[in-house]
Amino acid sequence: MRETSLNAARRNRELSELAEDDRVDLLVIGGGVTGAGVALDAASRGLSVVLAEKHDLAFGTSRWSSKLVHGGLRYLASGHVGLAHESAVERGILLRRTAPHLTRPLPQLVPLLPETDTPRAALVRAGFLAGDVLRLAAGTGSTCLPRSRRIGTVETLRMAPPVRHEGLRGGLLAWDGQLVDDARLVTAIARTAAGHGARVLTRCAAERVHGRGAVLHDRLGGQSVPVRARAVVNATGVWADEIAPELTLRPSRGTHLVVSADSLPGLDAALTVPVPGTTNRFVFALPADNGRIHIGLTDEEEPGSVPDVPEAAAHEVDFLLETINTALTEPLRAADVLATYSGLRPLLSGRDGSSADLSRDHAVLTGQNGVVSVVGGKLTTYRRMAEDAVDEAVRASGLDAGPCRTARLPLVGAADRARLSRVNAPRGLVARHGTEAPLVLDQAAGAPEGTEPVAEGTDVTLAELLFAVRHEGALDTDDLLDRRTRLGVVARDREAALPAAREALRRG
Ligand SMILES: Cc1cc2nc3c(=O)[nH]c(=O)nc-3n(C[C@H](O)[C@H](O)[C@H](O)COP(=O)(O)OP(=O)(O)OC[C@H]3O[C@@H](n4cnc5c(N)ncnc54)[C@H](O)[C@@H]3O)c2cc1C
Repeated sequence: MRETSLNAARRNRELSELAEDDRVDLLVIGGGVTGAGVALDAASRGLSVVLAEKHDLAFGTSRWSSKLVHGGLRYLASGHVGLAHESAVERGILLRRTAPHLTRPLPQLVPLLPETDTPRAALVRAGFLAGDVLRLAAGTGSTCLPRSRRIGTVETLRMAPPVRHEGLRGGLLAWDGQLVDDARLVTAIARTAAGHGARVLTRCAAERVHGRGAVLHDRLGGQSVPVRARAVVNATGVWADEIAPELTLRPSRGTHLVVSADSLPGLDAALTVPVPGTTNRFVFALPADNGRIHIGLTDEEEPGSVPDVPEAAAHEVDFLLETINTALTEPLRAADVLATYSGLRPLLSGRDGSSADLSRDHAVLTGQNGVVSVVGGKLTTYRRMAEDAVDEAVRASGLDAGPCRTARLPLVGAADRARLSRVNAPRGLVARHGTEAPLVLDQAAGAPEGTEPVAEGTDVTLAELLFAVRHEGALDTDDLLDRRTRLGVVARDREAALPAAREALRRG
């Protein structure tokens, strides 16, 4: 395997090489989880690959998710057994083989409060049992994700102390997967692809795209670099119809609130609260990295032009607070909300024009101009989406490529959980970097201030920012604060960490 480090020098070198020899097997457009996955899939099959991303890795939807590695339970509930099984298989692959360092088992707790009457509780319990069957059918044993069970009041309150005590009849507990951070997954996939020789070019917008290439507009240098490719994959998420106008997308906005872990003290599970008046809608409070809790999720149509960074509407904030508060002793107030974030689901329009659940499956479509588009799906199933897209690109172009290898290809920093527990570095750093955590610490050699937190309440250090500049392709302060770390989500953390981000870029 070649060097996995991404940085400004490599980017410049690879752009110059491309300007001299513009031929490549596969051009991938879009550096979200899907495009990064396609680049890794193709490069690891032995194809020469260029990935062009207009902004930065994980600039789009891939950084605004709930950061869950889903077992596909909700697809089962809506009768989509194949989709649910695919999700459960991919969850197992991420948790056990490709990204144990970036994922962890997450207990999901539904407290049984008076609002959840016996029939509704029975429905949730039946769903959790079906989830167990799904997990087993996908080959994920209970040592990886324990089986679901009913728990008593004491255990419920131990896992979720802020839950209302009066009328509590215990809880229903199930297990799913959680990512330490979605943008970090994308970076790890892109670096692994780079390790297999893919040229990962951020700040390069693909223009004049057709089935045999495109012109890359280098947004830093200003130059235009034509690329001739045997096949082109469009993995631009909610922007996919700009390249493939035959696609009809109906983006749907999902919003999360960010609160401090101190606002829901002791919460150690995904607190899952039924939305009053519905049968299978829930609001989650998810313990997250950096002492935060994320509360989500809404589902709002977002017609019209696609914004670079979507924004939450006031009524979404009210809805999330009102729903989660139905389960709490001390209600959360608007003042507890440190930040909000919203993302757009790249849903394909259903035949009747509705963004029905079915369209949450992914689709691989070859347009009349020969561009292969891969849209829909989700973070959890990125690997399978990539496999399907590369299979189609290879088939349509006659490229000579080996079979897909990614189900057995650990991402950079991955190791089994036993080995990860022995990595000599702080736990938070191992959760974000796996076996590379000691290399991150090395960046601070000779500079003791390099291991100090860059903002109050975080464990992110200057060493981590330096690592992001030298090895993870961060080119400016936004890349550092908004994608390689997520300090930028909360304005006051961003402000506090900005000088350290500037310093990291200066030292580069
Ligand atoms: C609120 C919300 C919560 C979610 N939660 C989960 C979850 O918990 N678990 C899960 O599995 N899934 C979840 N999903 C789904 C998942 O996040 C998305 O399916 C996935 O991130 C889409 O990734 P993508 O790579 O297809 O698109 P994107 O991440 O949007 O990437 C597309 C990229 O293409 C780039 N681009 C656009 N045009 C061009 C161009 N002309 N040239 C070069 N680059 C271009 C953009 O800059 C962007 O970076 C959630 C989605 C939302 C909205």
